[in-house]
Amino acid sequence: MKQAEDLKELLGRIDRRGYPAYKDTAGAYQFRNYVLSIDHVQGDPFAAPSKVSVIVGAKQAEFPEEYYQNAWRKAALQDMLIRRFYQRAERFSFQAKGSGKSGMISVSRPGQKILERSACQINGTNGTIVFRLEVGFPANGRTVNARELGKILFDFLPECIEDSLYYRAYQKKAVADVIALSDDQQFIREELKKQGLAAFAANGSVLPRATGVSDRPMQNAVTFTSPASMEVSMQLPHAGELRGMGIKKGITLIVGGGYHGKSTLLKALEAGIYNHIAGDGREYVITDDTAVKIRAEDGRSVKATDISMFIGTLPNGKDTKRFSTEDASGSTSQAANMIEAMEAGANVFLIDEDTSATNFMIRDELMQRVVHRESEPITPFIDRVQELYQRFGISTILVAGSCGSYFHKADTVLQMNQYVPMDVTEAAKAEAAYFPLALGSLTPAKEPEFKRMLFAVKPGGRDRMKIKAMGKDALSIDKKTVDLRYVEQIADTEQVVMLGCLLKYVLQNLSNGKKTVQEIVDELFRVIGQKGMEGIYGGRYLPTGLAMPRKQEVFACLNRYRG
Ligand code: ADP
Ligand code: MG
Repeated sequence: MKQAEDLKELLGRIDRRGYPAYKDTAGAYQFRNYVLSIDHVQGDPFAAPSKVSVIVGAKQAEFPEEYYQNAWRKAALQDMLIRRFYQRAERFSFQAKGSGKSGMISVSRPGQKILERSACQINGTNGTIVFRLEVGFPANGRTVNARELGKILFDFLPECIEDSLYYRAYQKKAVADVIALSDDQQFIREELKKQGLAAFAANGSVLPRATGVSDRPMQNAVTFTSPASMEVSMQLPHAGELRGMGIKKGITLIVGGGYHGKSTLLKALEAGIYNHIAGDGREYVITDDTAVKIRAEDGRSVKATDISMFIGTLPNGKDTKRFSTEDASGSTSQAANMIEAMEAGANVFLIDEDTSATNFMIRDELMQRVVHRESEPITPFIDRVQELYQRFGISTILVAGSCGSYFHKADTVLQMNQYVPMDVTEAAKAEAAYFPLALGSLTPAKEPEFKRMLFAVKPGGRDRMKIKAMGKDALSIDKKTVDLRYVEQIADTEQVVMLGCLLKYVLQNLSNGKKTVQEIVDELFRVIGQKGMEGIYGGRYLPTGLAMPRKQEVFACLNRYRG
């Protein structure tokens, strides 16, 4: 292998030449205790920065083996390294000068959630750490400024690497705490199953966020306390006994006056599919990790989805067993979102009345008297919610501030009162008894068929599909936009980029029109299980800037593609 000295020499030779001379730097170089690999060199100073990776062997890094031998610990450790690296690299970015992106040092910046990212991956078998970042190779105009690049590669980066990729750079206790938290979070996930819970929120948790656009905890918030009747206890392997509210499987209603914290609780439960970092306030808010937020999404496209359990024959004679539209209504979009979530394996639906289509949720008695069942294609969710649990095992956690009819259907009614939850099940049931529901005859739902075979496009071909993420809101692939605004459990732009890569993989490799959507997603996760994100990305080097989405969000993305 080439040595660091060779790179130094090379930089000396190409200084002040035309920018393309930088291409010669591509390759791997042995530094004292890591390998620097220049994976891809940018074409000019204004293009996307160059891709660089740093490889540190387990013997040099010295992290204890047991810290990366299972998936959740590894994810937590990788996340810790990225955060530290980001923090160290931030102050060096643009310290080396020049035109365009010269001197830029760009490292993934995790938010409050711990995600599997391409920025840092530890090999679970041999412990090798690969850290990926981007560097703007400096130029004056379009001339190589190798001295400035020398600063980055021989001063700045070594300092960042030294400070973040070796066990000795950390306080042992701090690393042990990160690992311990990940164990405890995993323990709660397993405990949910054992105790028959859909979700858990520990006493003392901080649920509200600092602002509408920040995922950080609110200062001086009212901390969460479980009602006594719902309190469960867990004996965590590290933190010891933890008490909090256990939301049982079944149907749970969250009620309460406006502004009393209903949506905030639901949002925390939505986020509980991910693990959060220490200090977030939601470290011990854990939700069944198949849970899906279901909302109305007017205007979305729907493809061959069997929404017949909610929507019968439509006025235009459209078939709702294979319902397709380029512009769904509130109710049809919410029905499609629900059926697709079932297809994606959701065991819990999270629904907020605020973002639901009223006619999907409910039809009051007066309306039923005036508009007869025969002329109303919609069977509202309230008529299916118990069936969904009893027959399909899908629990619902529903925020309902204004609709009391659900009292009849709920197993638990939780009232948020000045941010404090109270169990009002008995009182709600007693009151509901005075207002019996009109008993209509209801035909049981036909189990939806998940045999849709989408993506009948010619596979292969178009090798250079361009993928672009527009924040968390959308993805564009070959100029077609996939609207992800209302796929609310996407947590990071990097997940959107990865969704783009997955979609591209599907279009290029799995689009013979003979596979169901479930088979396609299974195949994607089989490839990832075997080869990691590299298996999907395909290019020679995996870039930084990708984060793994859940299976449920992959379904959501494929379902919204309008190709
Ligand atoms: P609702 O859905 O019941 O109308 P929200 O959940 O939207 O209410 O909360 C209303 C406001 O109260 C929000 O600004 C939120 O940040 C704030 N809030 C929620 N929970 C707490 C809490 N535990 N402590 C302090 N403020 C909170
Ligand atoms: Mg609300």
